Amino acid sequence: MSGTGGRNGTMEKYFLATFGCQMNVYDSNLIGGMLEKKGMAVTGDAEEADVLIVNTCSIRGGAEDRAYARIAAMRHYKRRNPDVRIAVIGCMAQNHGDKIPVELDHVDYVVGPDNYRELEALLFQKKAKAPAVLTEQNAFENYDGIMAKLDSAVTCHITIMRGCNKRCTYCIVPTVRGVERSRESASIIEEVERAVSEGVKEVCLLGQTVNSYRTEGDDFASLLRKLNRIEGLKRIRFTSPHPRHFDSNTIRAMAESEKICNHVHMPVQSGSNAMLKKMRRQYTRERYLEIVAELRACIPNLGITTDIITGFVGETEADYRETLSLVEEVGFDSAFMFSYSPREGTPAFEEPETLTAEEKQDRLERLIQLQMGISEKRLDAMAGREEEILLEDRSSRDRNEWVGKTGCCKKVIIPDAPGLDKGSLVRARILSRSGLVLRGEAIIG
Ligand code: SF4
Repeated sequence: MSGTGGRNGTMEKYFLATFGCQMNVYDSNLIGGMLEKKGMAVTGDAEEADVLIVNTCSIRGGAEDRAYARIAAMRHYKRRNPDVRIAVIGCMAQNHGDKIPVELDHVDYVVGPDNYRELEALLFQKKAKAPAVLTEQNAFENYDGIMAKLDSAVTCHITIMRGCNKRCTYCIVPTVRGVERSRESASIIEEVERAVSEGVKEVCLLGQTVNSYRTEGDDFASLLRKLNRIEGLKRIRFTSPHPRHFDSNTIRAMAESEKICNHVHMPVQSGSNAMLKKMRRQYTRERYLEIVAELRACIPNLGITTDIITGFVGETEADYRETLSLVEEVGFDSAFMFSYSPREGTPAFEEPETLTAEEKQDRLERLIQLQMGISEKRLDAMAGREEEILLEDRSSRDRNEWVGKTGCCKKVIIPDAPGLDKGSLVRARILSRSGLVLRGEAIIG
Protein backbone atom coordinates (compact mmCIF):
# COMPACT_ATOMS: atom_id res chain seq x y z
CA MET A 1 0.00 0.00 0.00
CA SER A 2 1.36 3.43 -0.81
CA GLY A 3 1.63 6.27 1.64
CA THR A 4 1.18 8.96 -1.01
CA GLY A 5 -2.08 10.86 -1.06
CA GLY A 6 -1.44 13.59 1.48
CA ARG A 7 -2.31 17.21 0.98
CA ASN A 8 -1.80 18.43 -2.60
CA GLY A 9 -1.08 14.87 -3.73
CA THR A 10 2.18 14.72 -1.78
CA MET A 11 3.36 11.96 0.55
CA GLU A 12 1.22 11.74 3.68
CA LYS A 13 2.79 13.07 6.87
CA TYR A 14 2.39 11.96 10.47
CA PHE A 15 3.03 13.91 13.66
CA LEU A 16 3.67 11.92 16.83
CA ALA A 17 3.68 13.35 20.38
CA THR A 18 5.01 11.05 23.09
CA PHE A 19 4.32 11.22 26.84
CA GLY A 20 5.83 9.02 29.53
CA CYS A 21 8.70 6.61 29.83
CA GLN A 22 11.38 5.24 27.51
CA MET A 23 9.12 2.29 26.67
CA ASN A 24 6.69 4.77 25.11
CA VAL A 25 9.52 6.49 23.27
CA TYR A 26 10.53 3.12 21.86
CA ASP A 27 6.92 2.32 20.89
CA SER A 28 6.69 5.67 19.09
CA ASN A 29 9.86 4.73 17.20
CA LEU A 30 8.29 1.35 16.41
CA ILE A 31 5.19 3.02 14.97
CA GLY A 32 7.37 5.54 13.11
CA GLY A 33 9.30 2.60 11.63
CA MET A 34 6.05 0.91 10.47
CA LEU A 35 4.55 4.07 8.95
CA GLU A 36 7.71 5.17 7.18
CA LYS A 37 8.24 1.73 5.72
CA LYS A 38 4.82 2.08 4.11
CA GLY A 39 5.68 5.49 2.69
CA MET A 40 4.53 8.07 5.23
CA ALA A 41 6.90 10.85 6.26
CA VAL A 42 7.37 12.26 9.74
CA THR A 43 6.80 15.91 10.48
CA GLY A 44 7.54 17.92 13.60
CA ASP A 45 4.83 20.42 12.61
CA ALA A 46 1.32 19.31 13.57
CA GLU A 47 -0.13 21.97 11.23
CA GLU A 48 0.98 20.11 8.13
CA ALA A 49 0.22 16.56 9.34
CA ASP A 50 -2.40 14.27 7.78
CA VAL A 51 -2.19 11.97 10.80
CA LEU A 52 -1.80 13.10 14.42
CA ILE A 53 -0.82 10.47 17.00
CA VAL A 54 -0.56 10.98 20.75
CA ASN A 55 1.27 8.23 22.67
CA THR A 56 0.03 8.53 26.25
CA CYS A 57 1.10 7.60 29.77
CA SER A 58 -1.07 6.56 32.74
CA ILE A 59 1.51 6.29 35.49
CA ARG A 60 0.22 9.39 37.31
CA GLY A 61 -2.94 11.46 37.11
CA GLY A 62 -0.89 14.46 35.99
CA ALA A 63 0.46 12.58 32.97
CA GLU A 64 -3.08 11.73 31.87
CA ASP A 65 -4.26 15.33 32.37
CA ARG A 66 -1.42 16.60 30.16
CA ALA A 67 -2.25 14.08 27.44
CA TYR A 68 -5.96 14.97 27.56
CA ALA A 69 -5.12 18.66 27.21
CA ARG A 70 -2.85 17.96 24.23
CA ILE A 71 -5.48 15.82 22.48
CA ALA A 72 -8.23 18.39 23.18
CA ALA A 73 -6.06 21.07 21.56
CA MET A 74 -5.90 18.98 18.38
CA ARG A 75 -9.61 19.53 17.67
CA HIS A 76 -8.61 22.68 15.86
CA TYR A 77 -6.72 20.73 13.14
CA LYS A 78 -9.74 18.54 12.52
CA ARG A 79 -12.01 21.57 12.21
CA ARG A 80 -9.75 23.05 9.58
CA ASN A 81 -9.37 19.79 7.69
CA PRO A 82 -11.93 17.02 8.41
CA ASP A 83 -9.69 14.49 6.57
CA VAL A 84 -7.04 14.72 9.29
CA ARG A 85 -6.98 11.49 11.35
CA ILE A 86 -6.26 11.55 15.09
CA ALA A 87 -5.13 8.50 17.04
CA VAL A 88 -4.68 8.17 20.81
CA ILE A 89 -2.41 5.26 21.69
CA GLY A 90 -0.45 3.93 24.68
CA CYS A 91 -1.29 3.29 28.32
CA MET A 92 -4.05 5.88 28.69
CA ALA A 93 -5.72 4.56 25.52
CA GLN A 94 -5.73 1.11 27.15
CA ASN A 95 -6.85 2.45 30.52
CA HIS A 96 -9.73 4.66 29.33
CA GLY A 97 -10.63 2.97 26.01
CA ASP A 98 -14.19 3.81 24.92
CA LYS A 99 -14.36 6.84 27.22
CA ILE A 100 -11.86 8.77 25.11
CA PRO A 101 -13.91 9.26 21.91
CA VAL A 102 -16.94 10.12 24.04
CA GLU A 103 -15.10 12.89 25.85
CA LEU A 104 -13.02 13.90 22.83
CA ASP A 105 -15.25 13.29 19.81
CA HIS A 106 -12.64 14.46 17.28
CA VAL A 107 -10.53 11.34 18.06
CA ASP A 108 -10.73 8.66 15.30
CA TYR A 109 -8.75 5.80 16.80
CA VAL A 110 -7.96 4.62 20.31
CA VAL A 111 -5.33 1.90 20.25
CA GLY A 112 -3.73 0.07 23.18
CA PRO A 113 -0.09 -1.09 23.38
CA ASP A 114 -0.83 -4.59 22.00
CA ASN A 115 -2.66 -3.34 18.90
CA TYR A 116 -0.13 -1.21 17.06
CA ARG A 117 -0.07 -3.52 14.03
CA GLU A 118 -3.79 -2.76 13.57
CA LEU A 119 -3.13 0.96 13.99
CA GLU A 120 -0.95 0.82 10.92
CA ALA A 121 -3.77 -0.81 8.92
CA LEU A 122 -6.33 1.74 10.18
CA LEU A 123 -4.18 4.68 9.25
CA PHE A 124 -3.55 3.42 5.74
CA GLN A 125 -7.05 2.31 4.95
CA LYS A 126 -8.16 5.84 5.87
CA LYS A 127 -11.89 5.22 5.68
CA ALA A 128 -12.24 3.07 8.80
CA LYS A 129 -15.47 3.65 10.62
CA ALA A 130 -14.42 6.12 13.24
CA PRO A 131 -14.07 6.03 16.11
CA ALA A 132 -12.36 2.65 16.33
CA VAL A 133 -11.30 1.44 19.77
CA LEU A 134 -8.77 -1.41 19.79
CA THR A 135 -7.71 -2.38 23.29
CA GLU A 136 -7.77 -6.15 23.29
CA GLN A 137 -4.72 -7.43 25.15
CA ASN A 138 -2.50 -9.98 23.45
CA ALA A 139 -0.13 -11.91 25.70
CA PHE A 140 2.02 -12.90 22.70
CA GLU A 141 2.50 -9.56 20.93
CA ASN A 142 6.10 -8.43 21.26
CA TYR A 143 6.53 -6.76 17.85
CA ASP A 144 9.33 -9.08 16.83
CA GLY A 145 10.30 -8.46 13.23
CA ILE A 146 9.46 -4.75 13.22
CA MET A 147 12.40 -2.38 13.09
CA ALA A 148 11.95 0.71 15.21
CA LYS A 149 13.36 4.04 14.09
CA LEU A 150 16.56 5.04 15.89
CA ASP A 151 16.44 7.60 18.73
CA SER A 152 19.73 9.24 17.86
CA ALA A 153 22.86 8.67 15.85
CA VAL A 154 24.88 7.54 18.90
CA THR A 155 22.61 5.86 21.46
CA CYS A 156 19.34 3.98 21.18
CA HIS A 157 16.77 2.17 23.30
CA ILE A 158 15.53 -1.29 22.41
CA THR A 159 12.62 -3.01 24.17
CA ILE A 160 13.48 -6.64 24.94
CA MET A 161 10.41 -7.59 26.95
CA ARG A 162 6.94 -6.15 27.41
CA GLY A 163 4.34 -6.23 30.17
CA CYS A 164 4.79 -7.03 33.84
CA ASN A 165 3.88 -9.99 36.05
CA LYS A 166 4.45 -8.15 39.30
CA ARG A 167 1.49 -6.66 41.06
CA CYS A 168 2.95 -3.74 43.00
CA THR A 169 -0.09 -2.38 44.79
CA TYR A 170 0.40 1.23 43.66
CA CYS A 171 1.04 0.52 39.98
CA ILE A 172 -1.31 0.57 36.98
CA VAL A 173 1.29 -0.80 34.53
CA PRO A 174 0.33 -4.52 34.68
CA THR A 175 -3.29 -3.55 33.96
CA VAL A 176 -2.50 -1.44 30.93
CA ARG A 177 0.56 -3.24 29.59
CA GLY A 178 -0.56 -6.82 30.22
CA VAL A 179 1.47 -9.85 31.15
CA GLU A 180 5.19 -10.25 30.73
CA ARG A 181 6.56 -11.56 27.41
CA SER A 182 10.11 -11.58 26.06
CA ARG A 183 11.35 -11.15 22.50
CA GLU A 184 13.46 -13.85 20.89
CA SER A 185 17.15 -13.08 21.33
CA ALA A 186 17.77 -13.48 17.57
CA SER A 187 15.34 -10.66 16.85
CA ILE A 188 16.96 -8.41 19.51
CA ILE A 189 20.43 -9.16 18.14
CA GLU A 190 19.26 -8.34 14.62
CA GLU A 191 17.86 -5.02 15.81
CA VAL A 192 21.05 -4.13 17.71
CA GLU A 193 23.22 -5.08 14.71
CA ARG A 194 21.09 -2.93 12.44
CA ALA A 195 21.45 0.01 14.88
CA VAL A 196 25.23 -0.50 15.03
CA SER A 197 25.44 -0.61 11.22
CA GLU A 198 23.76 2.81 11.23
CA GLY A 199 26.34 4.24 13.62
CA VAL A 200 24.86 3.58 17.07
CA LYS A 201 27.50 2.96 19.75
CA GLU A 202 25.38 2.41 22.85
CA VAL A 203 22.13 0.50 23.34
CA CYS A 204 19.90 0.59 26.38
CA LEU A 205 17.74 -2.51 26.79
CA LEU A 206 14.24 -1.77 28.04
CA GLY A 207 11.66 -3.74 29.98
CA GLN A 208 9.33 -3.09 32.93
CA THR A 209 11.33 -5.73 34.80
CA VAL A 210 14.10 -6.06 32.25
CA ASN A 211 16.11 -8.69 34.13
CA SER A 212 13.21 -11.14 34.28
CA TYR A 213 13.79 -11.55 30.52
CA ARG A 214 13.41 -15.22 29.61
CA THR A 215 12.80 -17.23 26.45
CA GLU A 216 13.15 -20.95 25.79
CA GLY A 217 16.84 -20.56 25.00
CA ASP A 218 17.95 -17.53 27.01
CA ASP A 219 17.75 -15.70 30.27
CA PHE A 220 18.86 -12.13 30.91
CA ALA A 221 22.46 -13.07 31.69
CA SER A 222 22.88 -15.12 28.49
CA LEU A 223 21.30 -12.33 26.43
CA LEU A 224 23.79 -9.84 27.89
CA ARG A 225 26.68 -12.14 26.98
CA LYS A 226 25.39 -12.54 23.41
CA LEU A 227 24.97 -8.80 22.92
CA ASN A 228 28.43 -8.21 24.34
CA ARG A 229 29.84 -10.10 21.34
CA ILE A 230 28.32 -7.77 18.72
CA GLU A 231 31.13 -6.17 16.78
CA GLY A 232 31.10 -2.38 16.65
CA LEU A 233 28.80 -2.04 19.68
CA LYS A 234 30.63 -0.15 22.42
CA ARG A 235 28.25 0.02 25.34
CA ILE A 236 25.24 -1.79 26.77
CA ARG A 237 22.89 -0.44 29.43
CA PHE A 238 19.54 -1.69 30.67
CA THR A 239 16.58 -0.39 32.63
CA SER A 240 14.85 -1.17 34.93
CA PRO A 241 15.89 -4.36 36.67
CA HIS A 242 13.70 -5.65 39.50
CA PRO A 243 15.60 -6.54 42.70
CA ARG A 244 13.67 -9.82 42.91
CA HIS A 245 15.43 -11.02 39.71
CA PHE A 246 18.91 -9.65 40.36
CA ASP A 247 20.86 -12.88 40.76
CA SER A 248 24.58 -13.69 40.90
CA ASN A 249 24.42 -15.03 37.35
CA THR A 250 23.43 -11.60 36.03
CA ILE A 251 26.03 -9.85 38.17
CA ARG A 252 28.73 -12.20 36.83
CA ALA A 253 27.61 -11.56 33.23
CA MET A 254 27.85 -7.82 33.89
CA ALA A 255 31.29 -8.09 35.47
CA GLU A 256 32.67 -10.33 32.71
CA SER A 257 31.24 -8.43 29.71
CA GLU A 258 33.39 -5.39 29.00
CA LYS A 259 30.66 -3.55 27.05
CA ILE A 260 28.15 -3.56 29.89
CA CYS A 261 28.30 -0.23 31.65
CA ASN A 262 29.20 0.04 35.30
CA HIS A 263 25.79 1.47 36.13
CA VAL A 264 22.61 -0.02 37.55
CA HIS A 265 19.28 1.73 37.94
CA MET A 266 17.51 -0.49 40.47
CA PRO A 267 14.23 0.87 41.91
CA VAL A 268 14.01 0.37 45.68
CA GLN A 269 10.81 2.38 46.37
CA SER A 270 11.15 2.22 50.19
CA GLY A 271 13.65 1.32 52.88
CA SER A 272 11.00 -0.04 55.22
CA ASN A 273 10.16 -3.73 55.14
CA ALA A 274 6.61 -2.96 56.25
CA MET A 275 6.14 -0.62 53.28
CA LEU A 276 7.87 -2.99 50.83
CA LYS A 277 5.44 -5.69 51.90
CA LYS A 278 2.46 -3.37 51.58
CA MET A 279 3.68 -2.34 48.13
CA ARG A 280 4.08 -6.06 47.30
CA ARG A 281 7.62 -5.52 46.06
CA GLN A 282 8.76 -9.10 46.77
CA TYR A 283 12.10 -8.26 48.43
CA THR A 284 13.26 -6.91 51.76
CA ARG A 285 15.55 -4.05 52.65
CA GLU A 286 18.18 -6.61 53.64
CA ARG A 287 18.00 -8.38 50.28
CA TYR A 288 18.28 -5.08 48.42
CA LEU A 289 21.40 -4.17 50.40
CA GLU A 290 22.83 -7.62 49.73
CA ILE A 291 22.48 -7.13 45.96
CA VAL A 292 24.11 -3.71 46.19
CA ALA A 293 27.04 -5.21 48.13
CA GLU A 294 27.50 -8.00 45.59
CA LEU A 295 27.31 -5.58 42.67
CA ARG A 296 29.86 -3.27 44.26
CA ALA A 297 32.19 -6.17 45.06
CA CYS A 298 32.15 -7.37 41.43
CA ILE A 299 31.98 -4.12 39.42
CA PRO A 300 34.48 -1.34 40.10
CA ASN A 301 33.28 2.27 40.32
CA LEU A 302 29.67 1.21 39.95
CA GLY A 303 27.03 3.95 39.67
CA ILE A 304 23.76 3.07 41.39
CA THR A 305 20.56 5.01 40.85
CA THR A 306 17.03 4.29 42.01
CA ASP A 307 13.34 5.24 42.25
CA ILE A 308 11.76 6.05 45.61
CA ILE A 309 8.16 6.72 46.69
CA THR A 310 7.55 8.61 49.92
CA GLY A 311 4.25 8.91 51.76
CA PHE A 312 2.74 5.58 50.68
CA VAL A 313 -0.49 4.57 52.43
CA GLY A 314 0.29 3.77 56.08
CA GLU A 315 3.89 5.07 55.97
CA THR A 316 4.82 6.12 59.52
CA GLU A 317 7.62 8.50 60.41
CA ALA A 318 9.64 5.44 61.44
CA ASP A 319 9.07 3.79 58.02
CA TYR A 320 10.11 7.01 56.34
CA ARG A 321 13.29 7.16 58.43
CA GLU A 322 14.09 3.64 57.26
CA THR A 323 14.03 5.00 53.70
CA LEU A 324 16.34 7.88 54.66
CA SER A 325 18.75 5.47 56.35
CA LEU A 326 18.77 3.16 53.32
CA VAL A 327 19.50 6.10 51.05
CA GLU A 328 22.47 6.98 53.27
CA GLU A 329 23.65 3.41 53.53
CA VAL A 330 23.62 2.78 49.77
CA GLY A 331 24.82 6.25 48.81
CA PHE A 332 22.88 6.39 45.54
CA ASP A 333 24.41 8.42 42.76
CA SER A 334 20.98 9.86 42.03
CA ALA A 335 17.32 9.01 42.43
CA PHE A 336 13.94 9.71 40.92
CA MET A 337 11.87 10.62 43.96
CA PHE A 338 8.09 10.95 44.06
CA SER A 339 5.45 11.42 46.70
CA TYR A 340 2.77 8.74 46.48
CA SER A 341 -0.14 9.54 44.18
CA PRO A 342 -3.05 7.05 44.20
CA ARG A 343 -4.03 5.54 40.83
CA GLU A 344 -7.56 4.39 40.24
CA GLY A 345 -7.63 0.70 39.36
CA THR A 346 -4.78 -0.26 41.71
CA PRO A 347 -5.23 -2.11 45.05
CA ALA A 348 -3.69 0.77 47.00
CA PHE A 349 -6.32 3.14 45.60
CA GLU A 350 -8.94 1.34 47.70
CA GLU A 351 -7.16 2.25 50.94
CA PRO A 352 -7.68 5.67 52.46
CA GLU A 353 -4.54 7.78 52.50
CA THR A 354 -2.97 8.28 55.91
CA LEU A 355 -0.99 11.45 55.22
CA THR A 356 -2.00 14.92 54.12
CA ALA A 357 -0.63 16.41 50.89
CA GLU A 358 1.58 18.71 53.02
CA GLU A 359 3.00 15.82 55.02
CA LYS A 360 3.79 13.89 51.83
CA GLN A 361 5.41 16.96 50.30
CA ASP A 362 7.48 17.55 53.43
CA ARG A 363 8.78 13.96 53.37
CA LEU A 364 9.61 14.25 49.70
CA GLU A 365 11.51 17.50 50.19
CA ARG A 366 13.57 16.13 53.08
CA LEU A 367 14.46 13.09 51.01
CA ILE A 368 15.43 15.20 47.99
CA GLN A 369 17.65 17.34 50.18
CA LEU A 370 19.41 14.29 51.59
CA GLN A 371 19.88 12.71 48.17
CA MET A 372 21.17 15.95 46.61
CA GLY A 373 23.94 16.12 49.19
CA ILE A 374 24.88 12.49 48.52
CA SER A 375 24.79 12.99 44.72
CA GLU A 376 27.10 15.99 45.00
CA LYS A 377 29.54 14.08 47.20
CA ARG A 378 29.59 11.14 44.77
CA LEU A 379 30.35 13.52 41.91
CA ASP A 380 33.02 15.39 43.87
CA ALA A 381 34.73 12.09 44.62
CA MET A 382 35.27 11.60 40.89
CA ALA A 383 37.61 14.59 40.55
CA GLY A 384 41.01 13.47 39.30
CA ARG A 385 39.69 10.17 37.97
CA GLU A 386 40.28 9.03 34.39
CA GLU A 387 37.04 8.00 32.71
CA GLU A 388 35.98 6.75 29.32
CA ILE A 389 33.35 9.09 27.91
CA LEU A 390 31.01 8.52 24.99
CA LEU A 391 30.57 11.85 23.21
CA GLU A 392 26.87 12.19 22.45
CA ASP A 393 26.81 15.65 20.89
CA ARG A 394 28.21 19.14 20.96
CA SER A 395 26.86 21.21 23.84
CA SER A 396 23.86 23.33 22.83
CA ARG A 397 25.23 26.13 25.05
CA ASP A 398 28.73 26.20 23.62
CA ARG A 399 29.49 24.49 20.31
CA ASN A 400 33.16 24.34 21.34
CA GLU A 401 32.29 21.84 24.05
CA TRP A 402 31.17 18.22 23.95
CA VAL A 403 28.57 16.50 26.14
CA GLY A 404 29.15 12.87 26.95
CA LYS A 405 28.53 10.22 29.58
CA THR A 406 30.77 8.02 31.65
CA GLY A 407 30.01 4.31 31.90
CA CYS A 408 28.60 5.00 35.38
CA CYS A 409 26.13 7.39 33.72
CA LYS A 410 27.52 10.76 34.76
CA LYS A 411 27.16 13.66 32.39
CA VAL A 412 30.53 15.23 31.53
CA ILE A 413 31.36 18.35 29.53
CA ILE A 414 34.76 18.55 27.85
CA PRO A 415 36.25 21.22 25.61
CA ASP A 416 36.66 20.40 21.93
CA ALA A 417 40.05 19.03 20.94
CA PRO A 418 41.56 17.65 17.72
CA GLY A 419 40.20 14.20 16.85
CA LEU A 420 37.03 14.42 18.96
CA ASP A 421 33.85 13.51 17.15
CA LYS A 422 30.23 12.64 17.82
CA GLY A 423 30.04 9.00 18.88
CA SER A 424 33.69 8.67 19.82
CA LEU A 425 34.81 7.08 23.07
CA VAL A 426 37.50 9.21 24.65
CA ARG A 427 39.64 8.99 27.76
CA ALA A 428 39.13 12.08 29.85
CA ARG A 429 40.27 13.39 33.21
CA ILE A 430 37.52 14.64 35.51
CA LEU A 431 38.40 18.09 36.80
CA SER A 432 35.45 19.52 38.68
CA ARG A 433 31.70 19.58 39.24
CA SER A 434 29.24 22.25 38.21
CA GLY A 435 25.84 21.50 39.77
CA LEU A 436 25.15 17.87 38.88
CA VAL A 437 27.38 17.90 35.80
CA LEU A 438 31.08 17.09 35.68
CA ARG A 439 33.69 18.99 33.72
CA GLY A 440 36.75 17.29 32.33
CA GLU A 441 39.37 17.34 29.61
CA ALA A 442 40.27 14.80 26.95
CA ILE A 443 43.53 12.93 27.42
CA ILE A 444 45.09 13.09 23.99
CA GLY A 445 47.85 10.74 22.95
S1 SF4 B 1 7.46 -4.08 38.78
FE1 SF4 B 1 5.86 -3.11 39.98
S2 SF4 B 1 6.23 -0.91 39.68
FE2 SF4 B 1 7.33 -1.99 38.04
S3 SF4 B 1 5.89 -2.02 36.32
FE3 SF4 B 1 5.64 -3.96 37.43
S4 SF4 B 1 3.96 -3.56 38.87
FE4 SF4 B 1 4.68 -1.56 38.16
